[in-house]
Amino acid sequence: MLLAIDDTDSPRGMCTTYLMVRLIHEIGLDLIGLPGLVRLNPNIRYKTRGNAALCAEFGEGNGSKTQVGTWMGNPIYSWPGGHLDGDPEEVADIAASIVGGMYERDENTNPGIVVSEKAFPEKLYHDTLQREMQKEEALAAIRDHGAAYREFGNGRGIIGASAALAWRKRRRTFELIVYDRTGPALSRTQRMKIANWTETFQGVFNSTDGDRNTPLIFPSPRTPVFAGIRSINFQSLLEMNSSAAFNETMACSSSLIFETNQGTDDHIVENPDRLTDMISCSITCVVSSTPVSRTGGHWFCTVDWKGNKVEVAAFEPSKRLRHAFSSLEPGDLIRIFGSYNSGVLNLEKMEVVSASRSFSRSSGRCRRCDSQMRNVGKGTRKCVSCGNTCDFNSFIEDQRELARGWFQAPPSSQRHLYRPVGLDLAESA
Ligand code: ATP
Repeated sequence: MLLAIDDTDSPRGMCTTYLMVRLIHEIGLDLIGLPGLVRLNPNIRYKTRGNAALCAEFGEGNGSKTQVGTWMGNPIYSWPGGHLDGDPEEVADIAASIVGGMYERDENTNPGIVVSEKAFPEKLYHDTLQREMQKEEALAAIRDHGAAYREFGNGRGIIGASAALAWRKRRRTFELIVYDRTGPALSRTQRMKIANWTETFQGVFNSTDGDRNTPLIFPSPRTPVFAGIRSINFQSLLEMNSSAAFNETMACSSSLIFETNQGTDDHIVENPDRLTDMISCSITCVVSSTPVSRTGGHWFCTVDWKGNKVEVAAFEPSKRLRHAFSSLEPGDLIRIFGSYNSGVLNLEKMEVVSASRSFSRSSGRCRRCDSQMRNVGKGTRKCVSCGNTCDFNSFIEDQRELARGWFQAPPSSQRHLYRPVGLDLAESA
């Protein structure tokens, strides 16, 4: 039986992942596999923080169980296989009583719960990453699959919950989240030390931002989450979570390992037919105007793509990506990744495929030894120092600061779904 929930938190508190941990502990069924933490369209205006929905499979587990977390000190196990021929309505009722008692009351918090025996069509997942969905579209999938649902407020959460039931985990990473710290507050230096230590585990990524010398695993203190450690390797998180050193340092009473579409670029549509609002995509295009800066340190230029002019922006927080972007010149061939909103493509990463070449008339200095050259008649110049000669009208190629290759924003400016350049997801299989 598959169960998904969404929209239980507000900027003031709670976190849907935390609610899922409690639900797993209290639902009275075995957890099959790992719970899914599914990020959806990052451009959606309704999101509280990172637009995440949660899903999990429950049943009667078989095979040998693995401890994948704890709830208030009690172990949470996961079974590799299992099944449940139950009534989705009954499971939905149990889930609704737990969610109903825990969700954060707020006018913009509209929890949704969906319970189904079958996964939803994958298209629903991709659509929810690419555009704004209507509740009716989620309800249609619920009806088609004989699923049960419960809602609070306006029930918008069933959109995200339905999309989570359509995620096929084709590309995935893992996140170990720890909650409810009981120990004293940590200094910045202590936090940085812990974050650095987590990066000694195989496959762990984005625990720190080296450019800014900042730890990234500790989110806003307004939620029960104390830390989240991301990895492409499940075993490394399992090992971390069972190590005495980790538990002593974290001093947290609850934890769980999720599998997730974070770091996968699942939001990116390669070379779409056209750019529509809220789509995230990668396009290969030619720079058609010299980048200009506007207030706030943001840079803009236009590119030619499929016969259209597209405005591209590199915003200030993207730092070195913005710096590389600012040195583009008309004629450069680039591949860019980003989200398209209100007519502007907001740059996430960029590959310079080839830099255009430009030439300037010879400056009158020798190309061999840089000394002054003298006009010796008949359109020829001669170097006063080494005797090198050149054609009076010769041109030399301008040196470009921009190198070919990839450019990206520092980790603290990367979105949850963003796949860092070079992150190899093969290990996650
Ligand atoms: P957190 O990351 O802290 O859990 P959040 O950022 O996920 O919070 P929610 O509180 O879950 O934000 O609110 C997001 C809301 O947007 C949910 O109701 C979800 O169903 C809805 N939603 C998500 N994607 C789409 C979409 N593509 N179209 C329309 N609604 C969407």
